[in-house]
Amino acid sequence: MGNTVDLMDGTAAELASSAVLVNGLVKRYGDMVALDYLDLDVHEGEIFGLLGPNGSGKSTAINCILALLTYDAGSVRVLGDAMTPTSYALKRRIGVVPQNVAVFNELSVEQNIDYFCSLYVKEKPRRKVFVEEALDFVGLREFRRFRPGKLSGGLLRRLNIACGIAHQPDLIIFDEPTVAVDPQSRNAILEGIQRLNAAGTTVIYTSHYMEEVEQICDRILIMDHGRQIALGTAQELKDMISIGEQISVGTLDLSERALDDVRQLAAVIDAHYDGKELVVRCGRGEHNLIDVLGLLEREHATIGHIASRAPTLNDVFLEITGKGLRD
Ligand code: ADP
Ligand code: MG
Repeated sequence: MGNTVDLMDGTAAELASSAVLVNGLVKRYGDMVALDYLDLDVHEGEIFGLLGPNGSGKSTAINCILALLTYDAGSVRVLGDAMTPTSYALKRRIGVVPQNVAVFNELSVEQNIDYFCSLYVKEKPRRKVFVEEALDFVGLREFRRFRPGKLSGGLLRRLNIACGIAHQPDLIIFDEPTVAVDPQSRNAILEGIQRLNAAGTTVIYTSHYMEEVEQICDRILIMDHGRQIALGTAQELKDMISIGEQISVGTLDLSERALDDVRQLAAVIDAHYDGKELVVRCGRGEHNLIDVLGLLEREHATIGHIASRAPTLNDVFLEITGKGLRD
């Protein structure tokens, strides 16, 4: 037992077993390189975020991991085994919520969930329980007899999720599940994912919404052009960049000289003034706000609203790639 204790000490992260292990994945569509030697190591029990702008290769990566797409190089292991198109036993342990809603319009909500569940769960009584749990989970009980065509966009997304998770897999992959979803359904989806994870499910969550990824993911891989840009917890990612907070101060009478003085402050990266608001981007520092406000006071500038925002994952993306996440 002494050994076990030693092993758990300090290196738990490295020792955590991999739910998904991807090595050197390359995928080309003709001349277009969609995945460019992508590596992934998703630990069992975590919510792993894949964050990147549209076209960065998130869905391609997911489809390669699931062996739904062939790839040009690399290897994929899922839950300890090599993943191939005929890994049926393995597929039973994986749930997929695809980016594009994939349900049958001629089946009711309940029948759709039952159908997808039946691909993996043959015993009817057990499946019945699973379908009820999935209905409850996504909050579609009162819509169980509806056809998909009668559901709002948000409810349709919830049905898509129910179909992907009903068989209670160990690993669930959500590919942009909140696109074009109302805020209420979005919150229901994010909370649902957190509940699944709390019950022991490993989750891969792809999105181009940095706020969502930051809200629910334990670790985040930021990708662009099929490559890893950065990897870590949200805090670790923010610590990688030189930008600290961004300070905004409403002021109507800032002189050119005062603006110059702000720019001279040690921690200031740049400062812009449009006649109404001064926006200052600062490096890391303890008292940036005090320094800026102190200077404005000495210059006798009137000070209106004051806001300070911490760096976001978009700032991380911007600093590394030179463009915003939603360009
Ligand atoms: P994401 O999911 O991050 O939006 P995708 O994986 O869908 O990105 O796409 C990655 C890149 O591959 C994009 O440039 C996209 O246009 C291209 N692509 C995706 N699917 C195909 C396809 N079937 N044929 C040709 N190009 C594709
Ligand atoms: Mg996609």
